[in-house]
Amino acid sequence: MRLRAAALMVRFLGADAPAAAAAGAGREAEFPAIWLRSSAIFCTTCSRLTWKPIKAASSSSVSCLGVLGIRLIIPILTRRCLVPLGHSVQSDLAGVACGRYNTKVDRRSFLGIVAPVAIRHKLAGAVSIPIVDTHIHLFDTARAQGVPWPDKQDPVLYRPALPGRYRKVTEGLGIVGAIEIECSPWLEDNQWVLDVAAKDSIIVGTIGDLEPGHPQFRAHLERYARNPLFRGIRYGNLWGRDLGADLKKPEFVAGLKALSEAGLALDTANPTPALIAAVARLTDRLPDLRVVVDHLPELDPATANLRDLAQRPQIYIKVSGVLRRVSGRVPLDTDFYRDRLDAIWDIFGPDRLIYGSDWPNSDPLGTYAQVLKIVEDYFHAKGTAAAEKYFWKNSIAAYRWIKRNARQPELA
Ligand SMILES: [Zn+2]
Repeated sequence: MRLRAAALMVRFLGADAPAAAAAGAGREAEFPAIWLRSSAIFCTTCSRLTWKPIKAASSSSVSCLGVLGIRLIIPILTRRCLVPLGHSVQSDLAGVACGRYNTKVDRRSFLGIVAPVAIRHKLAGAVSIPIVDTHIHLFDTARAQGVPWPDKQDPVLYRPALPGRYRKVTEGLGIVGAIEIECSPWLEDNQWVLDVAAKDSIIVGTIGDLEPGHPQFRAHLERYARNPLFRGIRYGNLWGRDLGADLKKPEFVAGLKALSEAGLALDTANPTPALIAAVARLTDRLPDLRVVVDHLPELDPATANLRDLAQRPQIYIKVSGVLRRVSGRVPLDTDFYRDRLDAIWDIFGPDRLIYGSDWPNSDPLGTYAQVLKIVEDYFHAKGTAAAEKYFWKNSIAAYRWIKRNARQPELA
């Protein structure tokens, strides 16, 4: 590992690097040797070698700093990346940070630069908190029967979205599990997702698409609910449906009652004041049904009666769909979204909010790391206990998903 790390460092750092690389490799038993150059962190652990841009950094981008078995760390920080993170580059380190590399930094200086970055992103919490993403979509645009969504003309979304690609885009970000949310009203696509999910344990559940008012609903529910990965259905402002209007139909409510009795959840999207009111009416009728409201940050909290929902403990709020385009651009500063996140936090508190990325539907707005960073910044600032609830514990309460591999957490 020592030689491999040194060789890679040479390649990365350029012509002046060999001596530094050799020196660094030799020093690894003491304290990490450090070079400063551009906006990246480069490190090795006992088992892996990673390189991550810090500019796009979520806290997990620097998670290699906090794990056991660190052998060599090379934070390469610039004024350009430190300042947005809330740091000024001071004294002799300024010159180093602005361009000179091969400059060894002692432990105190190392902590002076890296530790604040770590604290800013609540590194300690990020390292220990596994993330379960409760909102991703899976589809295969290359399959013979095609897909009802996304549209063929969509240059960003129209490509296969399968667990392998999801694993790649989330690599190193701490994602240990994901729940697939329906993106097709075709009955057999429920089975298609279950078959795809069966082959990759990162998928801990799916929220399918069945119509509670359909004459065959119970038969369909029985068929899919046999698979423990099937955790519920989604119904709301999508596929031309209207939850509020359908609640007037007794057979529709009877179907949802069967869903509730099966211990499964109802997801609903896309939020409008009318949908929020419909969810409240629904839980008046079926108090045991767990309901997850997708993408609440898309809604201006002042326009809907959210406090009414907050009084119903069986309702969970997916803090997903946070990023939005404003005047042609997508702000990537957490502060831009803070008012809306604060409003949701103040109303619902730590026990009702769950994380979802909406990948790959989020791709037109930002990279996975950018989407995650906003909520990491926000929830890590609420403390480790609250962040754990948001990033995985509440998702178990909402969906009762079942752990499929050793990386996935479970409640004590
Ligand atoms: Zn979505």
